[in-house]
Amino acid sequence: MLERARTLQDKIIAYRHDFHKNPEVGFNEFRTSAKVSEILTSLGCRVRKNVGKTGVVAELGEGQPVIAIRADMDALPLQEDNQVEYASQIPGVMHACGHDAHTAILLGVAELLAMEGKLPGTVRFFFQPAEEVADDEGFSGAQRMIQDGAMDGEVDMTLALHVSSLLPVGQIRIGSGPSSGGVDTFRASILGKGGHGARPQETVDPIYISAYIILALQGISSRKLNPYDPAVVSIGAIHAGHAENVIPNQVDILGTIRYMKHTVQDLIHEEIKNSFEIARSLGGDYSLKFEIGTPPMINDPKAVDLIRQVAGDLIGNENVLPPMDGLGAEDFGCFSELAPGAMFNLGCRFEDDERMHHNSHFDVNDGCLPFGAAILAETALRFLKRGSL
Ligand SMILES: [Zn+2]
Ligand SMILES: [Zn+2]
Repeated sequence: MLERARTLQDKIIAYRHDFHKNPEVGFNEFRTSAKVSEILTSLGCRVRKNVGKTGVVAELGEGQPVIAIRADMDALPLQEDNQVEYASQIPGVMHACGHDAHTAILLGVAELLAMEGKLPGTVRFFFQPAEEVADDEGFSGAQRMIQDGAMDGEVDMTLALHVSSLLPVGQIRIGSGPSSGGVDTFRASILGKGGHGARPQETVDPIYISAYIILALQGISSRKLNPYDPAVVSIGAIHAGHAENVIPNQVDILGTIRYMKHTVQDLIHEEIKNSFEIARSLGGDYSLKFEIGTPPMINDPKAVDLIRQVAGDLIGNENVLPPMDGLGAEDFGCFSELAPGAMFNLGCRFEDDERMHHNSHFDVNDGCLPFGAAILAETALRFLKRGSL
C-alpha cells in the first residue's frame, strides 16, 4: 500500500499545494469543497454536497461494514509568512494547522481504495468544514455534518489523522482512551452599579467583585478537582470600564473549559456557577451562560490496535509511538462518540526546523503525505475485510 501511495505522491502534493494557495476559513470552504467533490466524482464515488453547510460526504462500495474516514478542510485567519511557491494567495488566511494536508491525503485514500475494485463493505469519506471554529449557534463542522445526517445508517468504525510538526516524517503517535480534551465556553457578566470613582460607597463596584471571582475560578482545578482528572479553566477575555474615575456597571468575562470526563465537566460547570455567586454576597449580581462545545475525543482500544498493526507493518513498530499529553480540542470526538474509532498523529516535521501549528511559519513536510494515505487506506481495507473491530 505504501508503494502504491508513493505512485500517487506527486498528485497528493499538488492537491495540498493547491489547497494551501487557496485557504478558506471555517464554513467558507466553497472552493475547497467544490474541488474535493469534483475529484471524488471522477473517482466514481457517490458524492453528497453541502453536508453541514460546506462539507462533503462521499461513499465507495456497498453494504456493511461501514468505515468513515474524516479530513477537515478549514484554514485559519492568519497572514502566512512562508516564502514558498505555494504560499497562501489570500491575505490574512492561511493553512496553519495542516488541514490542507488532511484534505489532500484523504483524496489520495479515495483514489487508492477506488483502485481496489469491489470493496467488501463501504468506505464513507467526510470532508469536514470548520474544525477550528463554531458558527453563530456554537456548532463546529463535525456537529453540523452529523446534524445533516453524515453518521446516519450504521457506521461501524471512524478514523482520522492529524499532522504533527513535533514528530518526524515516517512516525505516528497513537494511544487508547482520552486523546484530546472536551471544550466548553463560558460567557459571564458581573453586574454592579456604576458611579463616581471618588464615591465608591454609593456604587456596587463590579471590578472589585471580579477580583474575588477570578481567584475562585482559579481554585476550581487546584481545590475542587481530583488531581488525577486533567482539566483547565482559563479566562481569555475580561472587559470593563472606559475612564479612570468612573466605576462601570459591569465586567464581562469570557473563558474556556477543557476536560476529559463528563463528570468533571459537570463539576466544573457547577463550581463556575458557585464562583460567580460571590457577586451576590458582595451586593452585585451576575449572568452566566455556557456554550457546550465538542466532547473529549476517546480512542477506542480495538481501533487503536488495528491502526497500530497496520502502521507497524507499513512503517515499522519502532515508528509507532505513544501519544503526548495535551488538552487541545478536536471535534473528531463528535464522530468517534457515535461509532468506535481513533485518530492518530502523523509526523510532518521538517528536519531541524520545527514549525509550530497555528503559527505564521507553519508548513507541512510533503514527505508525510504518502505515509498518511497508505495508513488510512490500509486500515480501512483491513477493517472491511475483517468485518468488525
Ligand atoms: Zn488547529
Ligand atoms: Zn487542526
